[in-house]
Amino acid sequence: MTAPTALHVRGVALPDDQTRDLWLVGDRITFEPVPGATTVVDGGFLLPGLVDAHCHLGIARGGAPITSLDDARRLARTDRDTGVLALRDAGSPYPYPELDDEPDLPRLARAGRHVAPPRRYLRDIGVEVPAAELSEAVVAQAKAGNGWVKLVGDWIERSVGDLAPAWEADAMTEAVHAAHRAGARVAVHTFDETAVEILVRAGVDSVEHGTGLSLDLVDEMARRRIALVPTMINIATFGGIADRARDKFPRYADHMLALRDGFPEVVRAAHAAGVPIFVGTDAGGGIDHGRAADEMLTLHEQAGMPAEAVLAAASWAARDWLGFPGLVEGGLADLVVYPTDPRVDLRVVRAPQRIVLRGRVLR
Ligand SMILES: [Zn+2]
Repeated sequence: MTAPTALHVRGVALPDDQTRDLWLVGDRITFEPVPGATTVVDGGFLLPGLVDAHCHLGIARGGAPITSLDDARRLARTDRDTGVLALRDAGSPYPYPELDDEPDLPRLARAGRHVAPPRRYLRDIGVEVPAAELSEAVVAQAKAGNGWVKLVGDWIERSVGDLAPAWEADAMTEAVHAAHRAGARVAVHTFDETAVEILVRAGVDSVEHGTGLSLDLVDEMARRRIALVPTMINIATFGGIADRARDKFPRYADHMLALRDGFPEVVRAAHAAGVPIFVGTDAGGGIDHGRAADEMLTLHEQAGMPAEAVLAAASWAARDWLGFPGLVEGGLADLVVYPTDPRVDLRVVRAPQRIVLRGRVLR
């Protein structure tokens, strides 16, 4: 029997580092030959697609919520066309569960809205709740997402003139447990030193940004398999944030610069300690979509992560973490193909030769 939709692919599959023949049947990968399949790739290096593990499809350029499903589609396609075939939305003010299985969009792991403290966070983006309502809000947002909750763990406290935790430690710890009981994993935004300690000890699943991490906490994250999504191209914008804040909040401005300057060392230490690190751009708002390659190269060049570790962080390891299996028997039929070995020169990730999403050749 010939399966009319089967595609055949041959190349060096990563991370196995073996020349492989793969067949794509519908949305599945098999190593079993399918007679009559059309060969669409012959040569090059095969990855199961890139992943942007921290972006926002619900936030338009400039920071306002999007206003239609088509806005989310357009942003997701911008990522897709660079080889990002799965993404995690780390908080969306505009719900778009309708897009979870849309055939021409990347795989979606989604949080609901950001859960943030009252009158401190970005306008119109989060659900803003006091400590007494935090756990309830987290459970509601767990239902709005498809597996993730996003907590804003710290932000500027204008009355203090510096970063400060969003809520008291007990409330944040209880909220993490409430999310877990509701079946969701918890991603936390943190820049500051204090909140990240509370949240890592509470057992969150991923630390977003994590500029305030200490070496002790990095070890605890490694031990507990808590992920770090450094978003280094976002941290590079701290200089502008500090400049705009300096007149009113000089202490905050200095703090942000110190966090920025110390960050490559934090990421380097996290990688050395064995913390699972994933590539996230924080696209949406201030950062354009389609920049996963920039984040990958920054992790390599500034934090010293070896190219193969960066590729894992941007592809197969991130997909496993999010539940989107890669180039294995029965895996999902997503592929990105590069003409040369990205482990030798990572810059080739800027120019995929072929992109296959859900068993369909896009390029
Ligand atoms: Zn973000």
